[in-house]
Amino acid sequence: MLKGKTALVTGSTSGIGLGMARALARQGANIMLNGFGDVDGPKAEIAALGVQAGYHGADMSKPAEIEDMMKAAAAQFGRVDILVNNAGIQHVAPVEDFPTDRWDAIIAINLTSAFHTSRLALPSMKKANWGRIINVASVHGLVASAQKSAYVAAKHGLVGLTKVTALETATTGVTCNAICPGWVLTPLVQKQVDARAAANGISNEEAKKQLLAEKEPSLQFTTPEELGELAVFFCSDAAKNVRGVAWNMDGGWAAQ
Ligand code: NAD
Repeated sequence: MLKGKTALVTGSTSGIGLGMARALARQGANIMLNGFGDVDGPKAEIAALGVQAGYHGADMSKPAEIEDMMKAAAAQFGRVDILVNNAGIQHVAPVEDFPTDRWDAIIAINLTSAFHTSRLALPSMKKANWGRIINVASVHGLVASAQKSAYVAAKHGLVGLTKVTALETATTGVTCNAICPGWVLTPLVQKQVDARAAANGISNEEAKKQLLAEKEPSLQFTTPEELGELAVFFCSDAAKNVRGVAWNMDGGWAAQ
């Protein structure tokens, strides 16, 4: 379905981003990976799906590096057809104790980076009259949880950016939508499971159960594979008039 298209997925060396990259590659899209940590593993995995795999190590908190990444993607693949803004970090603390450097980093990586990648990708998408921008927000783009001020602010902001981008592209073949997962058991969430297990003196399994029971009625984690399939749907022809939605895949979290 996506043969000949190129997808740039930020933060795709791990977790949800890697799940999205795999799902898009399975549909034939070439993939530009980004993120920290192990790069060779994800790159080889994507290449094994029979598509081209590139990588750029831009730090999503640095606009100049983002510009460089977008230029490198255009140089290697011609154009970015599908942009998945996924890179994100978390920090948990009450507002009055929230470290200001963590606030700045979360806003930069989880929100501002999507503005930069979008503004740089849109001209060639509009010229081709085809493009898909998928912003990985969160159920925290729709509702709040205590101790996550920066994350909730960034994700609500990302949902707002999604709507504006969708309006500005509404008469074109470019769409912009957000995906809002509930709990997904990735390294980002495992840290929160570990913190809960340590604080309450409980096992890892018990901490996972507590985490789910508090917020997610299905009592099940959403998986990167399921989220990848939603991204594939957004890229399909059937979704060409799906514009500006914030689509939760959250086990009923936001329905409460
Ligand atoms: P993860 O920690 O597994 O992956 C994060 C990715 O972002 C990694 O590839 C990491 O290297 C990359 N990254 C981090 N900082 C970066 C930076 N400065 N520049 C470039 N890349 C950077 O986390 P995840 O759970 O897969 O999260 C992915 C996205 O999904 C995030 O935006 C997160 O907020 C969102 N999300 C996660 C959950 C969840 O439950 N895990 C729920 C809702 C939304």
